[in-house]
Amino acid sequence: MCPKRGHDGRMRFTTSLLASAFAFATLVAFAAPQAKAAGPADRWAAASRPTTEAPRVIGAHGLGCIAGAVALPADGPGWQVVRLSRNRFWGHPALVETLQNLAAASTRAGLPPIWIGDLGQPRGGPMPWGHSSHQIGLDADVWLDVSRRPPLTATTRERIEVPSLVRGDGMAVNHAVFTEGHATLIRLAAQQPGVDRIFVNPAIKRALCEAHAGESWLRRIRPWRGHDSHMHIRLRCPAGQPECRDQAPIPAGDGCDASLDWWFSEEARRPPKPSPPGPPPRLPAACAGILAAP
Ligand SMILES: [Zn+2]
Repeated sequence: MCPKRGHDGRMRFTTSLLASAFAFATLVAFAAPQAKAAGPADRWAAASRPTTEAPRVIGAHGLGCIAGAVALPADGPGWQVVRLSRNRFWGHPALVETLQNLAAASTRAGLPPIWIGDLGQPRGGPMPWGHSSHQIGLDADVWLDVSRRPPLTATTRERIEVPSLVRGDGMAVNHAVFTEGHATLIRLAAQQPGVDRIFVNPAIKRALCEAHAGESWLRRIRPWRGHDSHMHIRLRCPAGQPECRDQAPIPAGDGCDASLDWWFSEEARRPPKPSPPGPPPRLPAACAGILAAP
């Protein structure tokens, strides 16, 4: 399945793209809330507060948990958190600091306040819907909207709509909506210290490659399906977190090459094969203690 906006938990599936789903399974979104029966992830979603110990990251971005997470404030200089009712504004202090720094950098660049979407749950862990990564407090979604608009109330923030930056056929950005301001926002995110990679739609990556050829930050911009109206920022494991597992390093080069072209191939755009049935992957054993802690 290719959840065009399912990454954000909303149903708007397309049949475009997707192959080798296993390779990046940590990014493949789950269905929307009403589509799933109660499961282990619901217990993680029900943990409404973080544990009070020092920050401790356990496991990998797509399979793990976090103790001592902190909240990104709902409003601050240069940002607004959207969809607060989800209670997914928690993360490692390094993630919160990165987002605050991105907001400051965006403001300095003349961009309007950024809309920040999901970080993680108070104790991380799997989510019943919306993402399969965002589990260890080191992932965050930022909306690719650089339009001028007034600050929103918390209620209005529940239902923001951001137009796709990508043409309906998925082969290129829609130049009627994609601007250099979007490129600036993505570049500023990629240049924050500690950022491991940023996922955007392949058409957005291609547009960045064309307009910013040779710039080193392009390497950290990784193509992935969906992500046509938001980017997904992923941090490396912070220092002093021996139980945190980083994703395999990004390949050498800026990625503006045949590996990007592949995303526009027949193979990549073919509907995916359903994954074989089997037991869900197991969280690191230490996560049980994090979930059970007072
Ligand atoms: Zn994300």
